[in-house]
Amino acid sequence: MAPYDYITYELLDEGRVARILLDRPESRNAQNRGLLVELDDAFRAAEADDGVRVVILGGAGEVFSSGHDLGTPECLAELAEETRHPTYLQDGGTRRGAEARMLQEWHHFFQSTRRWRDLRKITIAQVQGPVYAGGLMLMWCCDLIVAADDAVFADVVGTRLGMCGVEYFALPWEIGPRRTKELMLTGDALGVDEAHQVGMVSKVFPRAEMEARTLELAQRIAALPTMTALLIKESVNQTQDNMGFQNALAACFSIHQLNHAHWAEQHDGMPIALPEDGVPRWQDAPPVVVRDKTAARAEQG
Ligand code: ZN
Repeated sequence: MAPYDYITYELLDEGRVARILLDRPESRNAQNRGLLVELDDAFRAAEADDGVRVVILGGAGEVFSSGHDLGTPECLAELAEETRHPTYLQDGGTRRGAEARMLQEWHHFFQSTRRWRDLRKITIAQVQGPVYAGGLMLMWCCDLIVAADDAVFADVVGTRLGMCGVEYFALPWEIGPRRTKELMLTGDALGVDEAHQVGMVSKVFPRAEMEARTLELAQRIAALPTMTALLIKESVNQTQDNMGFQNALAACFSIHQLNHAHWAEQHDGMPIALPEDGVPRWQDAPPVVVRDKTAARAEQG
């Protein structure tokens, strides 16, 4: 499938490390359909290549990924009849109503993310800037998360879209149930240092050194026998699965679909909340602030 339009794929360290970069910096690496399809292809290519031991997933520019594409020209073209992306005509795309939405989100947001989480290679997310909503899914599915010192993390789909979370709802597993409720109900962000303290983020590097230090970490992990590395990953993933991770994800995906159906039923098919429901228009939404334990809402800045 390569060369790609929306991502780059390169082999480093004599082919032992594959680096995938989301490459739409002008759109803050928003995830349009073409990008997601290419990303799946690139992950599979790295998995198939026996020389590759570690995969780095990053984003070009100032922001790792701003989340799902909600309306760039490329996204609109993929939905338009004459230029429709072929994946909108399969996997439920030609069905109607909640069935179409459920199947399309299952294939392109949910099942794909679960597949990347269980990739047979060690994966490292390399993130910078504001990581919001759908951007979080792409880093959660990786084995390790490395962040630049300017990274902040927030799921704003509750306060801005009236939704109960993203399709791959790993947030409680990453930061704990109460912190998840607080951040989802307020739309506040987790700063990078707290994200490290709670164990979501493994390393925090100065922005200018992030790429080099992440590659250094990847090379260190790549030195381990491949069987050992994979079985360490598998032992942890199996532990988490036996604690209910996969079942919880599937249950929350169904709840997510109920939430979409609720809004679609009220808004002529528009599957998210509108200002009349009590969420601000995207352009008018107050800025996301990092949570502050001493204030109901932190001062901006
Ligand atoms: Zn959705």
